[in-house]
Amino acid sequence: MTPTQPLVDQFQRRISYLRLSVTDRCDLRCAYCMPERQTFLPRKEVLSLDELHQLALGFIARGVSKIRLTGGEPLVRRDMIELVRALGRQIGQGLEELTLTTNGTRLAEFADDLAAAGVRRVNVSLDTLDRAKFAALTRRDSLPQVLEGLMAARAAGLQVKINTVALKGVNADELPDLIAWAHGQRFDLTLIEVMPLGEVEADRFDQYLPLDTVRSALEARFTLTPSPHRSGGPARYFDVAETGGRLGLITPLTNNFCEGCNRVRVSATGQLYACLGGTEQVDLRAALRSEDPEAQLELALGEAMRIKPERHHFAIRVAGAAPALARHMSLTGG
Ligand code: SAM
Ligand code: SF4
Repeated sequence: MTPTQPLVDQFQRRISYLRLSVTDRCDLRCAYCMPERQTFLPRKEVLSLDELHQLALGFIARGVSKIRLTGGEPLVRRDMIELVRALGRQIGQGLEELTLTTNGTRLAEFADDLAAAGVRRVNVSLDTLDRAKFAALTRRDSLPQVLEGLMAARAAGLQVKINTVALKGVNADELPDLIAWAHGQRFDLTLIEVMPLGEVEADRFDQYLPLDTVRSALEARFTLTPSPHRSGGPARYFDVAETGGRLGLITPLTNNFCEGCNRVRVSATGQLYACLGGTEQVDLRAALRSEDPEAQLELALGEAMRIKPERHHFAIRVAGAAPALARHMSLTGG
């Protein structure tokens, strides 16, 4: 594809970051992410390896310099590592960084291959170190595999960031220990507020723990100093004096961060979601499967820039409310 204009939306935000979901399937069933009986998409709906590759190249040609592969669980897709290798070859050719977000259950198997393909950093989601709690929260007894995966990632030279969703009544009490543990392992850790995306069994109101409350509680044990560090995303960072590590806070609810948004998300079916919290979408699969994919993709990306909203409007204020969006995070790509 011939290089063209960078992607800039109607609010003059430059889009340089793509989150690309490679599957909606997952081997866990985190209670805040999806229901126990989740229906997954028929395979033919999901983009092929070639289509994912072509799409990613299209974004790189439009100035996207960072791609995060996600899911569902990206490492459950069989040909995933081939995509990582293909995209790894673009690093230094427009692409600056290729990363992935994973639940870690299959990291032990893939850590070396990921590192060899050019991946330098991975985000691993982990909400508790208590095996019984992990099994109850994810509905699978996989904590030992995740811990093994984390150690393998570190041994392979990957920088690890732990992502932890703060959940009232689940891990609130454990957060200081989890932070101390992660920092002791040389992993950064970022806390995330639960978002009202998709129907799950629990009431979001019962799960939601505002991070301003968490921060006050953490300050009973730790000295938190605001850090100028930025990772290109919405997290704001603090240095933790007692551990020597870095703590990130992602606060989509208590503190809206949309002003600096630099990203779009593409689902495994090729739907571009212009905003995590909105319904604005463009069908990139139709463009890719058309007679003239290159031209159609250009048109679709132009449309995406026109419809990207200024900000999301979701909130968790009352018990019993319907989700802000019917779409689960596992579909959009976290
Ligand atoms: N399966 C991979 C994982 O868990 O890391 C990647 C996909 S997952 C959807 C990406 C991230 O979204 C995870 O860190 C997960 O904890 C987070 N997540 C899922 N549902 C969420 C929700 N409703 N609110 C906030 N974060 C959520
Ligand atoms: Fe799977 Fe990730 Fe959702 Fe958990 S958060 S169910 S690991 S997609």
